[in-house]
Amino acid sequence: MSRIVYVNGSYRSYNEASVHVEDRGLQFADSVYEVIEVHRNHLVDPTRHLNRLDRSMSELSIQPPMSRAALLHIIRQIVRRNRVSDGTVYLQVTRGTAPRDFPFSDKSLSPTVICLARRFARGARDIVAATGISVQTMPDIRWGRCDIKTVMLLPAVLAKDQAGQAGASEAWLVDSDGLITEGASSNAWIVNQKGELQTRSLSHELLPGITRRTAIDVAGELGISVNEQAFSPQDAYTAKEAFNTSASATIMPVIRVDHRSIGSGKPGPFTTKLRAAFHHYAERLHSGKSSTGS
Ligand code: PMP
Repeated sequence: MSRIVYVNGSYRSYNEASVHVEDRGLQFADSVYEVIEVHRNHLVDPTRHLNRLDRSMSELSIQPPMSRAALLHIIRQIVRRNRVSDGTVYLQVTRGTAPRDFPFSDKSLSPTVICLARRFARGARDIVAATGISVQTMPDIRWGRCDIKTVMLLPAVLAKDQAGQAGASEAWLVDSDGLITEGASSNAWIVNQKGELQTRSLSHELLPGITRRTAIDVAGELGISVNEQAFSPQDAYTAKEAFNTSASATIMPVIRVDHRSIGSGKPGPFTTKLRAAFHHYAERLHSGKSSTGS
């Protein structure tokens, strides 16, 4: 099946779709995005994702390209046309195309909208989660507005590559005070000695993860305490459990940090319970794709 992508008003084949060479997303990373999970034919937490997209655009004065209903229509079309039952939808909005110049005084620029979907084999993430993943800590070299979800991802690309070379699949980024801000593409959590879920509180230093937010809600439903406080790599080494949250992997157990085993060295009971309950409590909007297809 050929993949279909949406670019600026039309649905095109993956190989034919393109953006202008002077798109500001390409030249300046002047662009924001969202990744939304598709789980069993449902979009997961679409309202929170689209709220965050609105906030990202507003923080950067990018004009919203269309109504929320129109964006949702495109997202659902892309899921349907690519027959995605389980996977992710990627939505990107750039400030638009203009002759290269740093300021963006031309307020009439029309944003570029790109939407792609990717299919996962059902249960593939569960297989990874059954074992858990390794993470590697390293300095956080990003900018001062990590709360805005921009495509300025080079530090994350380098961090994940370095983590891969160290045999890990995620990097945990450490600030100048020696505290973990978040993962390169996830929020970082531990289960501390008190049996609380611990994750850094929100600020300009980290992305307000949608999965992080929903995980806090799920913990509340399950009667598990959450402590929003930063922790160090040393705290992680001695934690009972560790995990990451992200839309593409939901709750992902972390069993090693910097080659040290965490807790029992296996996904722990808090993480496993949270992962199992996650989709039950997250917002689920039918993606529009028939549940009989796959
Ligand atoms: N932090 C960073 C830096 C990320 O890139 C991501 C994933 N995009 C997350 C956290 C997790 O956010 P979400 O739960 O919204 O996917």
